[in-house]
Amino acid sequence: MTLPTSPPEMTFARRPTRRLSLGGIPVGGGAPVTVQSMTTTRTADVEATLAQVYALKGAGADIVRITCNDVEAAQGLAEIVPRSPVPIVADIHFQYRLALAALEAGVAGLRLNPGNIRNPAHVRAVAAAAAERGVPIRVGVNAGSLDPELLARYGGPVPEALVESALYEIGLLEEAGCTDVKVSVKHAHVPSMVAAYRLLAERTDRPLHLGVTEAGPPPGGLIKSVAGIATLLMEGIGDTIRFSLTADPVEEAEAGRRLLEVLGLRERRGLDLIACPSCGRAEVDVIAITREVERRLQAEGLSLQVAVMGCVVNGPGEARQADLGIAAGKGKGHLFVKGRVVRVVPEAEMVDALVEEGRRLAAEGVEARLAAADAGVADLAAQAAADLREAQGDANRTAERRARVADAASGD
Ligand code: SF4
Repeated sequence: MTLPTSPPEMTFARRPTRRLSLGGIPVGGGAPVTVQSMTTTRTADVEATLAQVYALKGAGADIVRITCNDVEAAQGLAEIVPRSPVPIVADIHFQYRLALAALEAGVAGLRLNPGNIRNPAHVRAVAAAAAERGVPIRVGVNAGSLDPELLARYGGPVPEALVESALYEIGLLEEAGCTDVKVSVKHAHVPSMVAAYRLLAERTDRPLHLGVTEAGPPPGGLIKSVAGIATLLMEGIGDTIRFSLTADPVEEAEAGRRLLEVLGLRERRGLDLIACPSCGRAEVDVIAITREVERRLQAEGLSLQVAVMGCVVNGPGEARQADLGIAAGKGKGHLFVKGRVVRVVPEAEMVDALVEEGRRLAAEGVEARLAAADAGVADLAAQAAADLREAQGDANRTAERRARVADAASGD
């Protein structure tokens, strides 16, 4: 297999949007794309909700949304907000008075669902109160709760209907003096979600909050979310994201953060494990070893890109961009740094050796670890690869196939 060799920096331009500040976290206007998630506890249960907010921050959330669905929830927010490690957004449905209460509780942002707050006067009242406090509002349009009039006119929750709802709501907020607005047009159907955001991006320069709504449990929910969110991010669309998974919200935050890291939109802050998928050449149980390496290196808290390759024939070369890696070969583990073999150890010790090298690499740096490579180890690795190739033969039957291609070309 061939592993990606492109550098981790961003390779696509971001769409210019206005910038707003959500409790000190910039959103839009070229700011780093942020990760959001939402608590699942009862908001009135302050301690349980705060514990989840801390867990979400630990998993990568920059902003956390909390439902404000009754007076007790609003009172809970008044206690949660000053103790939260991240800005809190209150999620409001139906009752505009709860939005006013959440503002009073000190939240950093509001999310309003225009399909649920139908009275324009109520939306304006919330907008005016938010503007007075400098609190941004997200217009959170959702295909599942679109205004019935729009649904009837468009014949369903099509992208155009979602965008019309969003633009109308932005207008209402602006009229009331609220200009710090971000927008989402979420849909459970990925192609419709992508189409809605593309259309919205043409029609407004507001920062966009991306998400596939009601994506469901992993792995299906993850696949849907990544398909929709990554497609848009790679077109430069999107300023903040949320995975809506039917799972522990910590998984949402982790997934969101990882997606941004793999797209080069956020700096990697932990382990990035590269592993070959294994094949007939594998000298070890790649899946079991990869799991063990992941568990042990995560426990070390090292921020490294680490490769686990099933054989020394192709492993070190294919994973040369990794900081550190291990490739198996005939009862031995070949430890490599930036594609250069630095040590050969017995197979039973290869994971221990990898973890130890990871610690040293983090402490001493690449140059020092390359300089400390065991003498003659590159020759040993080259010999092991040649032995393995010899023992396993040419898995692709290259010589035979080349001869047949030559025969076909010459017409004999
Ligand atoms: S076992 Fe070797 S050849 Fe097979 S996928 Fe892994 S690194 Fe590639």
